[in-house]
Amino acid sequence: MYKYPKSKKIKAARSYTIPEVAEVLGCSTRTVRNWAGMGLRVLTGNRPYLIVGDDLKKFLADQSASKKVKLAPNELYCLSCKAPRQPLGLMADEIRQTATISRLVGLCEVCGGTCNRMISARALPEFARIFDIASKQTLTA
Ligand SMILES: [Zn+2]
Repeated sequence: MYKYPKSKKIKAARSYTIPEVAEVLGCSTRTVRNWAGMGLRVLTGNRPYLIVGDDLKKFLADQSASKKVKLAPNELYCLSCKAPRQPLGLMADEIRQTATISRLVGLCEVCGGTCNRMISARALPEFARIFDIASKQTLTA
């Protein structure tokens, strides 16, 4: 399972560009962009896009914590509640991340926030029996 890097090298009061985050944490810029898709806040008002150190530290801490949570087959993980939740109406969007991994995204039935679950693309038919899944394209022009 993917291990999130330690955020000790990140300074809370600093802002980082995506390549700087990748360099400091020793991961790829693609990984950092994936985090943005998973809820890491990126300031996109000006270029280069910036990530606030404090946001990054919190995101990495949340991800490490969320890894420990066991999800029932009908649950996604709510980033706001920081808890497993059923998505509203058992509806989820499937967003393909890689050739083998997809992300299910739904709305939390409790807080209305975004809830997520990374699944193996092979497991999609199983989840399609539980959730009403709409497939979306990740890459746009
Ligand atoms: Zn929630």
